Amino acid sequence: MRTSVIGYPRIGAARELKFAVEKYFRGEIGAGELRRTAAELRSAHWRAQQACGINFIPSGDFSFYDHVLDTAVLFNLVPERYRALGLDELETYFAMARGYQGPRGDVKALAMRKWFNTNYHYLVPEIEDSAEIRIAGSKIFDEYEEARRLGIETRPALVGAFTLLKLARFTGRKRAEHIADDIVRAYRDVLARLGEMGARWIQFDEPSLVTDLTPEDIRLLAELYRPILSGKHSVKVLVQTYFGDVRDCYDVLLSLPFDGIGLDFVEGVQSLVLLQKHGFPENKTLFAGVVSGRNIWRNRYADTLRTVREIRRYARDVVIGPSCSLLHVPYSVKHETRLPQDYTRHFAFAEEKLRELAELKRLLDSPNPTKEEAYKRNEALLAGPRCKPDEAVRARVAALTERDFTRLPALPEREAIQRNNLKLPPLPTTTIGSFPQTPDVRAIRAAYRKGEVPEEAYRRFIFDKIADCVRRQEEIGLDVLVHGEFERSDMVEYFGECLDGFVFTTNGWVQSYGTRCVKPPIIWGDVRRSRPITVEHAVFADGLTDRPVKGMLTGPVTMLNWSFPREDLPPKEIAFQIALAIRDEVLDLEAHGIDIIQIDEAALREKLPLRRSDWHAQYLSWAIPAFRLVHSGVRSETQIHTHMCYSRFEDMIREIEAMDADVISFEASRSDLELVETLRASGFRPGAGPGVYDIHSPRIPDVEELKAAIRKMVRAIGPARLWINPDCGLKTRGEDETWASLRHMVQAAAEVRAELEG
Ligand code: GLN
Ligand code: ZN
Repeated sequence: MRTSVIGYPRIGAARELKFAVEKYFRGEIGAGELRRTAAELRSAHWRAQQACGINFIPSGDFSFYDHVLDTAVLFNLVPERYRALGLDELETYFAMARGYQGPRGDVKALAMRKWFNTNYHYLVPEIEDSAEIRIAGSKIFDEYEEARRLGIETRPALVGAFTLLKLARFTGRKRAEHIADDIVRAYRDVLARLGEMGARWIQFDEPSLVTDLTPEDIRLLAELYRPILSGKHSVKVLVQTYFGDVRDCYDVLLSLPFDGIGLDFVEGVQSLVLLQKHGFPENKTLFAGVVSGRNIWRNRYADTLRTVREIRRYARDVVIGPSCSLLHVPYSVKHETRLPQDYTRHFAFAEEKLRELAELKRLLDSPNPTKEEAYKRNEALLAGPRCKPDEAVRARVAALTERDFTRLPALPEREAIQRNNLKLPPLPTTTIGSFPQTPDVRAIRAAYRKGEVPEEAYRRFIFDKIADCVRRQEEIGLDVLVHGEFERSDMVEYFGECLDGFVFTTNGWVQSYGTRCVKPPIIWGDVRRSRPITVEHAVFADGLTDRPVKGMLTGPVTMLNWSFPREDLPPKEIAFQIALAIRDEVLDLEAHGIDIIQIDEAALREKLPLRRSDWHAQYLSWAIPAFRLVHSGVRSETQIHTHMCYSRFEDMIREIEAMDADVISFEASRSDLELVETLRASGFRPGAGPGVYDIHSPRIPDVEELKAAIRKMVRAIGPARLWINPDCGLKTRGEDETWASLRHMVQAAAEVRAELEG
């Protein structure tokens, strides 16, 4: 048996890459030092894989920001507006990733989207009519060479042609068919060049192949790969799929001259059936994803051995590996010294997964695997239940009826009541909740957590911050204020820490986008709220101002989607448990005089099944009710907001309405307000706040540009239900840019308001 890895986390076990890149952004280190840090990390990651005997170790999976952007840059897909800045290669790369505002010009970043149904974000490549597609970068070759110099033979990995074209945005008249020849040539050149360098394998990541494919898609797949593979090269080609099964194109994949096919047997519910029905060619290698790359639980060897044995009945040459890149799990459990062993022995992060692969390989090669020590240890660990159920929580969920999911009266009636009650101006301005988590905030929280700052001092600090933030929001003239979320390290972690059933790592960081990392909580047991969570902060802020203060909560679906869920309960049951806990918080806030409550569902879209046919049955049928369960108990006067991230909503607008919130704010500015058109076309009923500027970039929008955005929204959906807000929370931004941007936003709203009235 041999083992293979699709991709390894790149930020570093102690987030070294994040810190180095951020220092580079602040001008504290130069490109040389940044590159040195990167090289050290790559070397450490290759060696970790080598130490576990991984036979196929990837290279090129490292990235300064994002691997899709890397592939775009490799093929010269750098839009004119970034070229025009005249920056060097690295600076141009970062300008595409995060925008640029400086002496050379002022451009926004490329649009950012969720990488399939994960919480990783990629940058959307743009293909302009003028694009000259050819090899323009050397990263993929350099990193292969770098590994070889360390004595490690790697398999260079890049986004495959099909997925690249599916994810890219065509900004002019050209479409995939017009540039297919150029793309083919460019990929062939990569193969040829790697062949000359002596590479044995190359990996094309093609996760788009697990989505619903049309006949045209399938034709495109064949039209791309037949010529790419027919060129003269000595490299073997692996087409690597993950996040599901390839039921729409399995036969086509088999018919193309790939040397290896990577299939996901963890999330790909039909992968095994495909093998059983259609077999697998003798002359190809099957790379079987059998260890979850998405979750952190220990692999159950008995099950995996059974799966591999079944796979081997159909495929002669099998290599095992994780189901997807290990990018989506943290580095190593060995850094988790605070959690008791009773917990940590159930976890497998990236390093532990390498070890699991090594053990599985040994077991698969053993004549008597069940007699092996590794097998017995695994059996013993996983025998019996991991934790006891909370009977009261189980009973509460079991007793839910249709009424618990229905808010009365209906939206139009509530709208009139709330209008009267809140007396907000037209085009009310607000924010999404968080304000900059400046170094002082992070430092004192870290010190408090280490026990170096007493509770009382920490509390005083937070409450002072809230007071200051409320005062400044009032001063710049926002209409609906927030307390600023200074007490929260992260919108999910904070709530998880206040609820029973979650456990936390100290170092379980996972890259979300660029240098931004998150530390997903682990849902260990049944979830229950044992005390109010946000009431004190909200009530304090509310007492400081006559303007309404919006309470801020994280919704159940987002809590679930941004955690590592337990796998011994269905997601629906977990979501309802969390919903009941948050529901109690909503009712407490209301009872304390908070009239507007925002329940963030930033990640609702994220776990939509990749195939449309599964959307309802496997997800929305419980996810939307979970949200409704949270707020169905409030009075008509109480205005429920929600907030959603990502730029694509057009395909689920009715489901978003079915959440039955009174107002919904959206992240939209990075996709040029396509969303507004969707809202218009669908006759969207609730209040809507499409973000008027992008908060993922330090760029300060000017008043004119904001007015133009607002006018465009007014023209599309009318002023009556329109809210004006940034597109997401401001926690990652600096103070100066935040207040300047908000000032511009409030002014722009006021001027458009005056135009409407005049
Ligand atoms: N209320 C959260 C914040 O402002 C929402 C964050 C998010 O949507 N990701 O930070
Ligand atoms: Zn958001």
